[in-house]
Amino acid sequence: MKLNLDILPLSSWLATGKEPLVIAGPCSAETEEQVVATAHLLAATGKISVLRAGIWKPRTRPGEFEGIGSIGLEWLKRAKEETGLLTATEVATAKHVEEALAAGVDILWVGARSTANPFTVQEIADALQGVDVPVLVKNPVNPDLSLWIGALERINRAGIKKLGAIHRGFSSYEKTAFRNEPMWDLAIQLKTVAPELPIINDPSHICGTRELIPYVAQKAVDLDMQGFIIESHIDPSVAWTDAKQQVTPAALADLINNLSLRKAES
Ligand code: PEP
Ligand code: MN
Repeated sequence: MKLNLDILPLSSWLATGKEPLVIAGPCSAETEEQVVATAHLLAATGKISVLRAGIWKPRTRPGEFEGIGSIGLEWLKRAKEETGLLTATEVATAKHVEEALAAGVDILWVGARSTANPFTVQEIADALQGVDVPVLVKNPVNPDLSLWIGALERINRAGIKKLGAIHRGFSSYEKTAFRNEPMWDLAIQLKTVAPELPIINDPSHICGTRELIPYVAQKAVDLDMQGFIIESHIDPSVAWTDAKQQVTPAALADLINNLSLRKAES
C-alpha cells in the first residue's frame, strides 16, 4: 500500500542550511524572559533552525499547569524578531490555529493526544483550509498506525502540502526505560507507505529522561529520519513541565555535535 499524499519535499519549504534540521525549545512557554533567553541561547549554538514552545498544554490530568495561553504567542514573536529563529507551537483546536496563524507562528504541530481523535484532527484540518503553513503531525499516543496516517490524510486533504510526521513514541502498559516506547517499526512502516513524507524524531517524549536522548537520536539518524524536535530549557531542573527530559541549549549543541550523521549517497 502507498499513501496518496499531495506534498512538497521538506527541502522546498524548510531549507535552513543546517543539518540535521533541529526544532528545539521549552516544553512549555513559562515566562517571557524564559522564552526569549532560551531562544537566544539556542540561536547562539548555530545548530537550531526553529524554536518550539507549548502555549496550550494538554496535560493528562487536571490541576497542573495547563499552558500560559495566548499571551505566550507574543513571546514567540519577540523571540523570532530578536533571534531570527522560526517558531513552532502545538494546536489542538480551531481557535488555536486561528490565534497561532494571526500571531505569525511559522510551523504548527498536532499533538499526540489530538492525533488519537479524528474529530479533533478534522476540526484542525477545517481551520487550515486555504492556509499555506507547514504542519507536523505527531504519532497518536497509542500504537495505531492508521490513526497517524488518517490524521496526516485529513490535514493533507485540507490543502496542507508542507506536511511532516513527528515520531514521539507510544504509550504501553509495560513499563520500560522509555516514557513512550519508540516502536520503531511503526515509523518504518509509515516511511514505507509514504516515502516522500518527512519524519522528524522527538527523542524527548520517547525518552522521558535526558540521559537516554543521545541513543534514541542516533537511532533516528540511522533510520534516515529527517530531523529532530527536542525540548530545551535554560534551567531544566525548574521547568514547569517535563523537567526530567529537557536539556540546556549547551547540552543540546553537544548532543547534535556528537551524532554520527549519515553520509549523503554519492
Ligand atoms: C509536547 O511536545 O510538549 C507534547 C505535549 O507532546 P506530545 O503531544 O508528544 O505528548
Ligand atoms: Mn513536553
